[in-house]
Amino acid sequence: MTFPIDYGIDLVSIPRHSFIDVIEGRVPAKVLAGKDVIVGATAIELGDRYPVPRFGVVPGVYVQAMATETLRRGIPTTLSFWVAVILILPALIGVVYLQTTIRIVSLVAFSATSIFLLALASESWWSLTASIIPALVVLMFGAIATVAANRLRRTFKASLHDSATGLPNTRAWLRADKAASAAIVLTLPKYDAIVSLLGETDVALFIKRLLERLAPALDDATVYRINDRSIGWELGECDFSQLTQKMASLDRQLLHPIEFTGHQLDVQTGIGVAVIDARGKSAAITGALGAAGYAAQRGLKWHLNDGENRDADERELTLLGELDVALAQEEIFVVYQPKLALESDTIVSAEALVRWNHPTRGILSPGMFVEAAENNGRIIELTLYVLNVVLRDLVVLANSAIHISAAVNISAKLLGDSDFLGRALTMIEASGVPPSQLIFEITESAAILAPADALTSIARLRDKGVAISLDDYGTGQSSLAYLKKFQVDELKIDASFVRNVHCDGKDRILVRSTIELAHEMGIKVVGEGVEDIDCLEMLRTLKCDIVQGYLISQPLIAHRLRDFVLEHQDTYKIAV
Ligand code: C2E
Ligand code: CA
Ligand code: CA
Repeated sequence: MTFPIDYGIDLVSIPRHSFIDVIEGRVPAKVLAGKDVIVGATAIELGDRYPVPRFGVVPGVYVQAMATETLRRGIPTTLSFWVAVILILPALIGVVYLQTTIRIVSLVAFSATSIFLLALASESWWSLTASIIPALVVLMFGAIATVAANRLRRTFKASLHDSATGLPNTRAWLRADKAASAAIVLTLPKYDAIVSLLGETDVALFIKRLLERLAPALDDATVYRINDRSIGWELGECDFSQLTQKMASLDRQLLHPIEFTGHQLDVQTGIGVAVIDARGKSAAITGALGAAGYAAQRGLKWHLNDGENRDADERELTLLGELDVALAQEEIFVVYQPKLALESDTIVSAEALVRWNHPTRGILSPGMFVEAAENNGRIIELTLYVLNVVLRDLVVLANSAIHISAAVNISAKLLGDSDFLGRALTMIEASGVPPSQLIFEITESAAILAPADALTSIARLRDKGVAISLDDYGTGQSSLAYLKKFQVDELKIDASFVRNVHCDGKDRILVRSTIELAHEMGIKVVGEGVEDIDCLEMLRTLKCDIVQGYLISQPLIAHRLRDFVLEHQDTYKIAV
């Protein structure tokens, strides 16, 4: 029979007597009477010595004494190690369900201590022993595996989610296997402006607010954030036939500004749709993204990329590379749209609008390439090219005794750029054209990047005599905030307010009050996009200073502008 010795027995409590003292009667008989006596050798030389817990190396007879004492107290029952393993199971299950490492470590420490104390107690009170090592090993392995699995799960989850908004990302979209007919992407072309207004953290909240606004038009679709400025979702398998209604419903949700941290944000969006066909979902997402950019650039509400025009959009990306060549080969040219002063009924100015005579794609309007040039570091060269052409044309016009001013569109992004400003001023000076014959129209397709630098640039330009005009007033950020910040000479009320000024009471109120406000600040007002005579007459009644639009003239190439001005030199009469 084998049994474990109870090393808890204190060796000192077992009386010991020298064998020779007993033989020679030096140990009183009553000391030994009624006791069990074990006789054994303790001399080191005999080598009968064993290492034991607590007491180090002791003579074999001591081990026998402890063993005897153990037997007298009752033989402990040795249980299978499985008992401890089973007892630890609830803790193991708990560990598996816990999410944080700190909780797992706490539970492991608590369970290990408990099972250890239980083992001690059961041994001393009930003479039951069982090895707890396997149970502790199982618990440790369980804990390590759970911590590792939690880590892995978290990393995997992060790789499928956008960390700022918590929305699933493109990778998650590609893994989703719901049947769908099309990918829809909504992009925020003015994302940079929103970031500079709200800051990165609030932008994430803003995107969530935008999603809440869109929710009624999304039909519970899962929304993915596919890049900073774009979100996307899928159109159900049978929903493609209702695409137009769905887009109209989206548009309705975006009609009103979103109020966010005290700002009324008029969200401008571009929405792109691409059919999910044999090319797969990834191609459709890219296609929808391209279509969203296309829509945003052209001010369209949405654009469908149905596979046939997808190739055309892809071609557009290569335009940018060709732009450098175009500038070198003078494929870029400028047309002028006359501006009519209503008080004198004379043409006082003309706005320069850039065009690209592309060798294979025909004449491209600025919407096709200006924003791409802005975003890809080509805008300085493009703008200086236009300015150079304008200065040259003004010299030619001066030779025909025409001294109208010319307006050049300057992307807001360029305003604070000292390199641009220096080169533009040098160019103006070298041309001999009086700076007062130039107007810089600040065209806002992006937020002004460094407002302080922009302020200095504007002051420098006005000092030299160049007039500053605020384009597209009333849209985006081109509003009261800009008027407050920047000293301007002219503001151009956006065509969207002007077009119906003669038949829409609200537009009339807005235009009238804007004109009054501007006049009080000593600023001239231009009404843009005037297409019919009633509109022009209403603007005259409202004391608008200048009008521009197809009613007066389409944009004209330089020599046709000269003819147009000469023709209407004394007083301008509209041909009806
Ligand atoms: P914008 O400065 O607001 O220019 C007016 C746009 O409206 C021009 O389009 C013009 O052709 C068009 N337009 C003029 N009158 C009417 C009208 O009565 N009805 C309608 N429906 N449209 C009218 P375009 O030439 O396509 O220019 C689009 C935009 O491209 C311009 O808007 C301007 O923001 C930008 N742009 C044009 N040239 C340049 C340039 O040289 N540099 C920069 N940075 N931007 C430019
Ligand atoms: Ca303009
Ligand atoms: Ca404009």
